[in-house]
Amino acid sequence: MANATTPPAPRPKDWILGIHAYVPGKSTGKDGQKLTKLSANENPLGTSAAALEARGMAAHPATYPDPDSTELRKAIGEVHGIDPARIVMGTGSDELLNLAAQAYAGPGDEVLYVRYGFSVYDIAARRCGAVPVVAPDADYGTDVDALLACVTDKTRVVFLANPNNPTGSWLPRAEIERLHAGLRSDVLLVLDGAYAEYLDPADDDGALELAARASNVLVTHTFSKIYGLAGERIGWGTGHADIVDMLNRIRGPFNVSNTAQAAGLAAVQDQAFVIASREHNNAERARFVEKLEALGNHGVRPLPSKANFVLILFEGKVSAEDVYLGLMDHGYITRWLPGQGLPQALRITIGTRVQMDEIADAIRAMCESAK
Ligand SMILES: *Cc1c(COP(=O)(O)O)cnc(C)c1O
Repeated sequence: MANATTPPAPRPKDWILGIHAYVPGKSTGKDGQKLTKLSANENPLGTSAAALEARGMAAHPATYPDPDSTELRKAIGEVHGIDPARIVMGTGSDELLNLAAQAYAGPGDEVLYVRYGFSVYDIAARRCGAVPVVAPDADYGTDVDALLACVTDKTRVVFLANPNNPTGSWLPRAEIERLHAGLRSDVLLVLDGAYAEYLDPADDDGALELAARASNVLVTHTFSKIYGLAGERIGWGTGHADIVDMLNRIRGPFNVSNTAQAAGLAAVQDQAFVIASREHNNAERARFVEKLEALGNHGVRPLPSKANFVLILFEGKVSAEDVYLGLMDHGYITRWLPGQGLPQALRITIGTRVQMDEIADAIRAMCESAK
């Protein structure tokens, strides 16, 4: 019990006390029953067989991994046409997002992102003592002018996921260029490409050309989504050599494990799996969205998505919470987001065709029986 003679406990910094822990997508229902998980944007096709095999043959766990992930960076560089010296690896791209904020912002500085942005940006900003600043959205999408209007002389880092999570919205290349052109050269623009591999490469290069050219852009990618390696925790980033150098100085020295490096290497070399995953996703997403759009008279509004999930607004008699609970009774866990200011919305990961048909049918039945 605390009293006058109790020695003082270590005191966390005020900015750390302001952090709410990241809330991950759940995998179980009310009574802990196992549900089909469409709440964390994982790949329904699983993982490349070659990656699984390579993971099984990774270096012995008693040995440290290669601190520079040399082979993996080389392979990523080959696939994307990037000098491996300009690639920094992270324990998931989460590590890189946090390091970017830490390297370029601190107490007194501002870190800017759009409302309904990825919830890690708030944590990354606060972890380094910076002030998170949230720009207004435009009907759940990213508004470049609104973002630029929030830039002040204290802004140090701007985070933008493209496509964005949880909205699925996407800004075409010209808009990203306009955002970049509107920022001071001393503001770091972090373009989070966690879902960039779901874009048609003919439509969007995931800002890699901008990252190669600009001195204030960091593009991040992950193996957690299309590569189906969320459990291995592999992310990478690319940008100006000075930015890559800063992140390399402060990252964990052995931040990508033996199994992660082995699986990641085989996964990048199996682009056929990536293409199959993209084609599956984009076809099933279109099919699912079409079924939801047919429920427009019930107030069901799927937002346009370029990612491996759809954010659905429920603006009629059936609420997002009703559907969230109803889908659990059908064996599915999806993502209801009241904690992110979206009590009216459900984010549903694109699964298999059977799963998406079952979910669409269940939502339609809930709408039709609503009084
Ligand atoms: C899933 C996701 C990531 C990936 O995080 P990892 O740490 O690489 O697993 C990053 N950004 C966004 C927007 C995401 O949705």
